[in-house]
Amino acid sequence: MIRQFELVERVKAYDPAADEDALNRAYVFSMKAHGLQKRASGDPYFSHPLEVAGILTEYRLDSASIVTALLHDTVEDTLATREQIESLFGKEIGRLVDGVTKLSRIELQSDQAQQAENFRKLVLAMSEDIRVLLVKLADRLHNMRTLRHIGDPEKRKHIARETMEIYAPLAERVGMHDMKDELEDLAFAEFNPDARESILARLGFLRARGEDLIVRIIDELKRIQSKGGLKAEVSGREKSPYSVWRKMQRNHVGFEQLSDIMAFRVVVATVAECYQALGIIHSHYPMVPGRFKDYISTPKPNGYCSIHTGVIGPERHRIEIQIRTTEMHEIADRGVATHWVYKQGRARTEGPQYRWLRELLDILEHAAGPEEFLEHTKLEMFRDQVFCFTPKGDLIVLPQAATPVDFAYAIHSEIGDTCVGAKINGRISPLKTILKNGDQVEILTSKTGTPNPEWERFVVTGKARTRVRRFVRTQQRAQYIDLGRSILQKQFERGGYEFSPKTLEEVLETFRCSSVDDLYADLGQGLHTGGEVMGAVFPETKAKGGKVLPPRRARTKKDKDKEHAIPIRGLIPGMAVHFAGCCHALPGDRIVGIVTAGKGVTVHTIDCEALESFTDTPERWLDLAWDVDSNDQEGHVGRITVVVANERGSLGSLSTVIGRNDGNITNLKITNRSTDFFEMTIDIEVQNVRHLTNIIAALRATPAINSVERARG
Ligand code: MN
Repeated sequence: MIRQFELVERVKAYDPAADEDALNRAYVFSMKAHGLQKRASGDPYFSHPLEVAGILTEYRLDSASIVTALLHDTVEDTLATREQIESLFGKEIGRLVDGVTKLSRIELQSDQAQQAENFRKLVLAMSEDIRVLLVKLADRLHNMRTLRHIGDPEKRKHIARETMEIYAPLAERVGMHDMKDELEDLAFAEFNPDARESILARLGFLRARGEDLIVRIIDELKRIQSKGGLKAEVSGREKSPYSVWRKMQRNHVGFEQLSDIMAFRVVVATVAECYQALGIIHSHYPMVPGRFKDYISTPKPNGYCSIHTGVIGPERHRIEIQIRTTEMHEIADRGVATHWVYKQGRARTEGPQYRWLRELLDILEHAAGPEEFLEHTKLEMFRDQVFCFTPKGDLIVLPQAATPVDFAYAIHSEIGDTCVGAKINGRISPLKTILKNGDQVEILTSKTGTPNPEWERFVVTGKARTRVRRFVRTQQRAQYIDLGRSILQKQFERGGYEFSPKTLEEVLETFRCSSVDDLYADLGQGLHTGGEVMGAVFPETKAKGGKVLPPRRARTKKDKDKEHAIPIRGLIPGMAVHFAGCCHALPGDRIVGIVTAGKGVTVHTIDCEALESFTDTPERWLDLAWDVDSNDQEGHVGRITVVVANERGSLGSLSTVIGRNDGNITNLKITNRSTDFFEMTIDIEVQNVRHLTNIIAALRATPAINSVERARG
């Protein structure tokens, strides 16, 4: 165990102004508070907060952080209270300890929802003061180092997974690379001890076979630098077993090259010397294409700066080299601890290196729940980055596989919401194009633009995803409410009752709804039927067994039908109302809806064969009518099957006829092919059923075309 004076000396070595008195008092307070408590390892409990404090001294944190580390488990695990801590150590320490305590309280819950909630609290706490995160990371590091003492394998796995998914990426985000490497490697040891052992054995073998190869390479690199007139420090270090493992996974190969297991580092005084050192290296050794990265000219979002290059180096070994200044080295080593700003006793999270944290907060604000939040952020933190530019040359950093939609949302939520198109390097490109490094992206917006539910399938940033989901959610609810209201209205009319939302208020409780809108939404979603609601409002209809008859297919009095039918508008597909893929109903077709609980309504044409399977469940049928105003320009997709002669130009005349009649082919599939004829299915965007009928007629008049039918099921 670190002794009291040792700890104080360690802090004073890098911070002569440290609060020695507070450190001493915290040491004694924590030791007494934890008393005879023991860790799973059998060590006295106090060794844990002490080790956590020790880890933080390696990052040269201020005395407030060290004191917090010493006290971090006292409120949770001993009789000490927050008030006591605050009166003994002051407001700042009280707040920091409280921040860490709140996180511990819900830790180690195997439940996904609670893990997510924990993470949400962590983000909030660290945005208040990043030191809470640093203490938490050190706490987790020590718990991982002693993980093997925990008996329950399920619990061990859970801690390791949380470390891999949340704490290691966070450590990377705050620039603490060694911490991240160690956390990952310790988690790896839990998940896959055999793989880790074999990598360690292999590393040992290569090291032994190479004899003093690493030393020779370091000497050689030093020699060429000083010959070039540059004073440089050169070092080499072995990568962690986990990073070797990940590399093997990525490249699907075993490791043989030195570059797979070693990283060399050249540290010089100034930025100019970095490029000079790079020049010297590249003029001595051939560069390996694709390995060069200049993070000095374009730093990583967490502030990391360095030049990376790969060369066929000394003795023709392929090696990787990082070049940086002493200052950059310091930042790469200690991350945020080197450059945070204290304001009113808080380590504030302002400045560009905290952009990611502000983005997390933004996602947090708009996510539906902590689980959704966790899902978004987990994805994001794992990804490598691509660097893209606005037309003005501003840098936008996005995760790998990001699209122009992600780019638009990264600039501003509003730009994302109203984006309708994109120019990539001056050329109009689809919104789902995957952006590449260096792309210049111009976003085209429209005042009337709205997020498209389809986007959710390809966006990768949490911000874009939550905004799109939120939009879909609100739209969907509005549509369910509309639909539910219409269903009830018609139901009441049919039963001969006057419809008034007021009467519904009395039955809200029966349906466990807190407002009439909620009830509408539930109805629209198909969670209750109109008959059920009416039965609750007018019990006499129930007594009469007053189930309202479903619409019958044979019904002929068109006008009477219309009266009871529920109007549907040009709704955004994929929400409250879906068009069935079997019959492709078009405005003008006679239609019915089938209600599916929780999914809303699927629209079929009245003669669709798929309706056969719903004859036993009349309560699911809904009478529908089109409500499309004449200036509705929205396209609907109709499907036809066509048989054309297998001869030159027949496909050409087919598409010409469709085009001339203002149809837009959205899909074409050859379903059958013989020597003489092709049979195909064609999807055409049209305005209504009359439009499609015209096209069918025009096609039938075309000589090369044998037969045309509208597809039915
Ligand atoms: Mn702890």
